[in-house]
Parts: sequence; C-alpha cells; structure tokens
Amino acid sequence: MNPFSTLGIRHDIVNAITELGFENPTPIQEQSIPVLLSGSNDFVGLAQTGTGKTAAFGLPLLELLDFEENYPQALILCPTRELCLQITNDIKNYAKNMKNVQVVAVYGGANISDQLRQIKRGVQIVVATPGRMLDIINRKAIDFTQVQFVVLDEADEMLNMGFQEDIDSILSTTPDDKKTWLFSATMPNEVRRIAKKYMTDPFELTMGTKNTGNVNIEHEYYIVKARDKYAAFKRIVDFNPEIFGIVFCRTKIETQEIAESLMKDGYNADALHGDLSQQQRDKVMKRYRDRSLQLLIATDVAARGIDVNDVTHVINYSLPDEIENYTHRSGRTGRAGKTGISIAIINSKELGKIRHIERTIGKQFTKAEIPTGFDVCEKQLFALVHKVHNVEVNQEQIEQYIPRIMDEFKDLDKEEIIKRFASLEFNRFLEYYSKAPDLNISSDERGFERSERGDRSERPMRSGTSAGYTRLFMNLGSVDDFTRGDMLGFICNNTKISGKSVGKIDLKGVFTFFEVEDSAVNQVVEGFKSVDFQGRSVRIELAGDRDGGSSERGGYRGAGGGGRREGGSGGGYRGGSGGGSRREGGSGGGGFRDFSGKRREDRSGSNAGGARREGGDRRRRI
Ligand code: AMP
Repeated sequence: MNPFSTLGIRHDIVNAITELGFENPTPIQEQSIPVLLSGSNDFVGLAQTGTGKTAAFGLPLLELLDFEENYPQALILCPTRELCLQITNDIKNYAKNMKNVQVVAVYGGANISDQLRQIKRGVQIVVATPGRMLDIINRKAIDFTQVQFVVLDEADEMLNMGFQEDIDSILSTTPDDKKTWLFSATMPNEVRRIAKKYMTDPFELTMGTKNTGNVNIEHEYYIVKARDKYAAFKRIVDFNPEIFGIVFCRTKIETQEIAESLMKDGYNADALHGDLSQQQRDKVMKRYRDRSLQLLIATDVAARGIDVNDVTHVINYSLPDEIENYTHRSGRTGRAGKTGISIAIINSKELGKIRHIERTIGKQFTKAEIPTGFDVCEKQLFALVHKVHNVEVNQEQIEQYIPRIMDEFKDLDKEEIIKRFASLEFNRFLEYYSKAPDLNISSDERGFERSERGDRSERPMRSGTSAGYTRLFMNLGSVDDFTRGDMLGFICNNTKISGKSVGKIDLKGVFTFFEVEDSAVNQVVEGFKSVDFQGRSVRIELAGDRDGGSSERGGYRGAGGGGRREGGSGGGYRGGSGGGSRREGGSGGGGFRDFSGKRREDRSGSNAGGARREGGDRRRRI
C-alpha cells in the first residue's frame, strides 16, 4: 500500500502526488497528516521551509473540505507573494484529479480585480498575503463566516514583516470554532504569543530541536580583513564551479553593488531587492529558477519565501542583524532532503556573532580557509575536465566537421590535444591567480580568536603543526568532493578515533593535510591501511617534506600545468606517482560523496556549471 494511503490520503490525491515524485511522506508529513486529518485539533508545527510542510497541511485540507460547496472554507495566510503562488500551485497540483477544487491566490502587487472576480466565482481555499487579504475584506468582497480552517504559514516571517495587526483583523472575521494550524521555522516569543492567543490546547510538533537549523546544512565561516572580503568571496565562488547560490547582503545598496561588481567581473549574477519593481523581481527570479543565473544576490526581505530547490550554497556576505534571519537564510539550501552549505564571510570582530548563532541553532560552524589561488586553479581545471568528459555530443551535427577537425589536429597526439583543451579555460584562472595573495588572516592577526575556542578550527596551520599534534597527508581532497566535515567523518569512521583527536584539516584539491594527536597517529595509519575510496587505496603519510605553502605552489608550477602532472614529470607534490588518472576516476561527474564512498545526493544541479557566461569574455574573473 502506498505510504500516503496508509496515512489516510485517498487514491486520486495519492496518484497526483506520486506523479509529482512524492513516494514517501517527509517526517513532518508523516507526523502531522494523521493529526490534521482528524480536523479537530489546533496545531503548531515547528518546521523549516523545504521540509514538505505545504503538503503536510495541503493534503488534509483537500480531504476535509466540501468541494461541492463554493464558499471559502480554508484560509492560508503566508508572508510573501512568492510563497502564496507556490502554495496555490502546489495545492492545485495535489488536487488535479479532483473535481471542482477552487483555490485562489490573493497577494499584493497584482491586479485586484482579477482576484475579486475569482473570489466571486466561488472558491473553497484562499491563499493570501495579509495586506491584500485585509484590503479585500475591507471591501466586503469576501465572506469568511464559514471558514473551518486557518493556516498561518511561516508565522515567524509574517510577524517579522509586521503583519501582526493585519492577521488579528483578518482572523476576527473568521468563526471562533475554526481550527488554526500554525507553521513556523523558529519559535520566537511573538509566535508563541499568537499561538496562545488563537489556539486551544494545540497539538505541537517539533521537527528537530526548537530553533535548530536543518540537519542537512553545514555551516562554515571564513575570517578575512574587510578590504579582502569581495576578493575572498569571489575565490569561494571560483572554488565551487558548480555553485548555485543565494548571497545575502545587509542593505539594498550593498546588494546592488555586489551584484554589479560580479556582473562586471563576468559572473552570472543578479540582484534581488526592494528597490526593483515587481516585474524586475519576477524576471530575476525566473532566471534564477531556470538556472540561467548562478548567483542571486539578495536582501533578507526580497528573498523571503523564495522556494528554489537544489540551492547548493547560501553565502552570508554580511551577517544579518537579527539572528533569526540567519536561520531563514540558511534554510534556502538543504531543502527536500538535499544537503547544502551555509557560509558566513566575517571579520575577526564578528566571531562573537558566529558563537551566538551557534548557540541559537544548536550547531557548530567549521572555520574554513579561503582557498589559495592554487586551490582554485586546480578545482577549476578538474571541473573543466569533468565537463569535457561528460558533455553531450550531438553526433549528427558534429559529424560533418570531424574530418576538418581531425586534419587540424593531425600533428598532435592525444595527450597534447587534451592539454590544449584543458588549458583553454585553465590558463585564464592560472593567469588571474598566479600572484594571488593568501587572504586568510594570519595566526598573529587573529591571536585573540584562538584562545576563545581552542578547537581544531582555530589552530594555526601553515606556520607549523600545533603542539601535541602530528600532521599527516592523505591522497584525497576537495576534488573528491570532500568538505572538511566529510573529511572529519571519513577519518573518524575509518580509524575509530574521536573527532576531538583531530586537529586542523587543510583540505586541498587532490590531497589533504590533517593533524591528529601524537598518540593517535598509529591508529590512523593502521586504520587506513586497507581502506578504499571509489576504488582507490587511501594513502596516509607523515606530512614531512610534502608540507608547506610554497612547495604546493612550486609543485604545481614545476609540473607546468595540469596535463603534465599526469605524466609524472617529477618535482610535483604527487612525486610522479601517477595520481592523475586515478584522480579522474575518483571525481566522477561532480556529485558529492559520503564517507563510505557511496554517491551522495548531487546538490550541484544539472547545468549550474554551464550557467556561467559563455563567449570567452576576457574580463571573466580576470
Ligand atoms: P515545502 O516545504 O512544502 O516547500 O516542500 C519543499 C519541496 O519538497 C517541494 O519542492 C516539494 O514539492 C517537495 N516535497 C514535499 N513533500 C515531498 C515528498 N513527500 N516527497 C518528495 N518531495 C516532496
């Protein structure tokens, strides 16, 4: 039996959601649907966006309302036009096999006459933003006296946006005995107050701990000097060629400026903020949804209710003033069971804010290092290699040119041709990053910071190994799609040492340096002796003379570009061990792997990498 049928959802709805790809209920659906289907409870659900809460309340509504009648029976209030349209659309999709289900979206910034006309024609479910709803109520154009269910979706957002009074006025037009279902990502006191005010003994459901961020999201922070912030940000983006991200700024001006700078620098970015007209905002959102935009630069207000799946990164270019907003920002990634990364770029004075957020969301941040120019070049090179490897060839179209192409290349062997293709894009990055400085704040500059939390993230690294720790080398790195968190898990799972015994993890492109307590070194070396990752043996060595920032660069340059490294020309950090080809095998199509080497959910999206501008603009990132 279909698991949704087991929960009490009827066949025509189950068929419709199966077509949408809903095979199993999400945790919130599993727990709330049976309660809400009884129709006799008030309900408070503490759940992030992206957890499937629309269906959690939408499906029970479709079961409970009488669709032979044409008067409003359910009212769903939500903070933004985006979300309003999304919910309306979702419910229509769930109901596509049902007869006479009338759902109307009521929101500001659109023609009110159309909305009034739809209401007049008869409707059972009204999905509305508070301002426009109140306007329509004041025109006496709607009758809520027979409403049985009110849903307050993203209640915390509605209160943040100052809709408290509007909500009060709207709810005063609905019957006292209606049931109220409230959903909120966080539970500040204001939300508690409205729960208390409008509900009697509500059934409370908390998905995860209160105010806790989504478990699928990793949180990282980077410390940079204020003047290096933009360069550091670009480097993070360059290091993640498949990024499909939302970048949050604090003000409209900052948002516009960052977006313009990025566009000027050749990135596929655009701004979303309140100074744009609704039409402009819709256009930007459409491009982002279509993935013709890779980076959406937004203010908190403009980004409210954005519901785009597969966002790989949320970047806090500036931290929000309100901690609650951090949860909303980071919740734009890691949706629908996917994983995501939330990044904060801060200066050393803002570390206290990070600690505050950690306490609020109940999760620790990992301190990350701004990738070096070398790291970026290497990451980009392999992203390009994967792209070439996986590109879809239009046999029919290309066929006619093949003889001429072959003729052109006849004096070059395979290795030489590959090198040249790879160099096309790679040279640009190499040129740009050849003299790129280290943007990380040195250990001296952030002295106070280390003493605050003496964990692995704060130990100095480049300047030497921490006392009591030994620095080890591993032949896997970020091109194998490890994050620092993954690597920590990988080390602990395979060697059974505690995470506390692991010091600084310095994740490089094709390798990683990591520190472990002196007493744990043997256990780590032994633990990895017979471990394979993607069919490759994991190699652990004492860092010894592999170590040191300059040798990384020297090694790379010495090898004269990506291609030659494969030939094992010596002098490179791989020491001519033939690692190149293994590496290619290891990285696959840009997906993400878990510690056991199985493929994790691909959070990169299908063509995010290709979303960058074409046309070989020389200014691109140069
Ligand atoms: P929501 O939290 O309602 O915005 O849902 C987030 C995303 O998850 C939407 O794209 C939904 O279509 C999707 N979704 C919701 N429930 C399920 C489910 N049971 N199985 C698969 N996807 C789902």
